Parts: sequence; C-alpha cells; structure tokens
Amino acid sequence: PDIFADFSDIFGDFFGFGGGRRQAGGPERGADLRFDLEISFNDSFTGAETTIQIPREESCETCKGSGAAPGSSRETCPQCRGAGQLRFQQGFLVVARPCGQCRGTGQIIPKPCPACRGTGRTTKDRRVTVKIPAGIAEGQRLRMYGEGEHGAHGGPSGDLYVVVHVKPHEIYHRENDDLFAEVAVPFSMMAMGGSFKIEPPGGQLTIEVPAATPSGALLPFRGKGMPNVSGHGRGTLYVRVVVDVPKKLTKEQRKLIEQLGNAMPADTIQPRAIDADDDEKPFFERVKDLFGS
Ligand SMILES: [Zn+2]
Ligand SMILES: [Zn+2]
Repeated sequence: PDIFADFSDIFGDFFGFGGGRRQAGGPERGADLRFDLEISFNDSFTGAETTIQIPREESCETCKGSGAAPGSSRETCPQCRGAGQLRFQQGFLVVARPCGQCRGTGQIIPKPCPACRGTGRTTKDRRVTVKIPAGIAEGQRLRMYGEGEHGAHGGPSGDLYVVVHVKPHEIYHRENDDLFAEVAVPFSMMAMGGSFKIEPPGGQLTIEVPAATPSGALLPFRGKGMPNVSGHGRGTLYVRVVVDVPKKLTKEQRKLIEQLGNAMPADTIQPRAIDADDDEKPFFERVKDLFGS
C-alpha cells in the first residue's frame, strides 16, 4: 500500500475535504425541508387542502444570488488566485487547506450586496398549498418536489417533506384502513334482535343486531371504514356490541328485570373457554389487543 496516499486521505478528512470531491463553489443542491402538519381526524377522512407557511432560504433577488452589490461583481481571490485552497510544505508532505480569505470559493466580493450581506441568500416565508389525500394516516409524508431550499451556484432546489400528524378520533380507532368502535346494547336487543343508528365518519349507519348475539360480538361493515389513501375503496368498520348493564334502573325497569331474573335461574350457570362463542376467530387477537379483553 502507498503510505503517502494513506496520509493524504487522513489529512483530507481532517480539513473537511473527505467524501465527495465536490469542487469548491460548484453547483450545490438545496437542503430538504421538513414541515410537521397536524390535521383533524375528519380532514384525514375527507382529504383537505391547506396552505402552509415555511421559512426557506432562497437566492437573493437583489444580487440574483451572486452576493455582489448591483453594478459590481465577484473577483478572483488574490490570495489563492482562484484555487480556493492553499498548499503548505509540512516535512515531506504537501498539505492543502481552504483559503481563509475566500473561504474556499476562489472568489471574493469587493462590494457585498446590502440585502444579503454578500451571502447571496435570503430567508423568506413562502406559502405552499398542500393537498392532503383522503385516508392519509399518522406519520405519512407528502413529498413536494423542488419546494425545499434553493440550490447554490445553479444547483437544483431541495424537496419539502410535509409530515402529517392526525389527531386521533375520540371514538373510532383506526388500524390500517379499518375502524373499530364499541357500543353497549340493551340485553333485550342482543337476545331478541333489533337495530339502532350510529353516526360514524362518512355518514349515518344502521346497525342490525341479529337475535341471540353474544356480548362482545364484532359486526363488520365492509366499505364503511377509512378511505384507502391510494384510492382503493374503503376499509371495514367493526362495531363490537357488548351488553349494556345500566348503573341505575327506574322502578319499572327493576320490576321487569326481576321478573326476567326469576325466569332465568342461576343454577344453570357454567364456566366455558374464553373464546367459545367467538365466530370471528381471525379477528380475535386484534380485538383482544384493541379492547384489552
Ligand atoms: Zn444579495
Ligand atoms: Zn482564496
């Protein structure tokens, strides 16, 4: 191995020339920007359009990014003669370091632009319209090409990443494109069957409870879940029905339930395995996780 080559690599890293051998002052891509956007659950369901305001670095309009005051121009650095670096003899090695006068660019600005103080860059608040597709989920990113910071020396702009945060719904829990909720139903309806209306995201829905529905049964409503963010229809809404046990009873309710109790003797009560009545076994584990039962 060439020992001198190894040394020059070490020095190169030390002085910040390691990695990409970018020419000083050459085109540079602008930095990517990140913007965290919080939206309501309803906006994630319907989709939305919003305008955000982001500070970003742009090319200075006064000097068109050159950094030189109007009417003047950049000049070749007299110290390094435009090379951007200075070379030193150190023992038997030649060591290069960036030119201090021009900061490695090879050019100096005799009359700096007053608007940007010679940097060629200004920070501006920019308004960007963001289209949020229906069905977007917590943490998903929208990439806006070219909306990042301007490039330097003719390089392309970076991209803007809008990271979407969705406020959870108070009732409807989302998992992928499916929604889950629980509703307490009177014992009489679970036993005899019946129906009631709920108001989930996306509009009113009639829940038909079949006769002899066990407490904890999961009723699936396909196509009533969240919209798929790629436009592939909607997921499933799962409504878990459990027996409603009232904390307070009217006199009449108490009398009727006592009569019912007398007709349902306690001496037939027996234990069973916990999933004995679960006819939706593929969902059992999910439901257990979601509802902790
Ligand atoms: Zn300027
Ligand atoms: Zn120089």
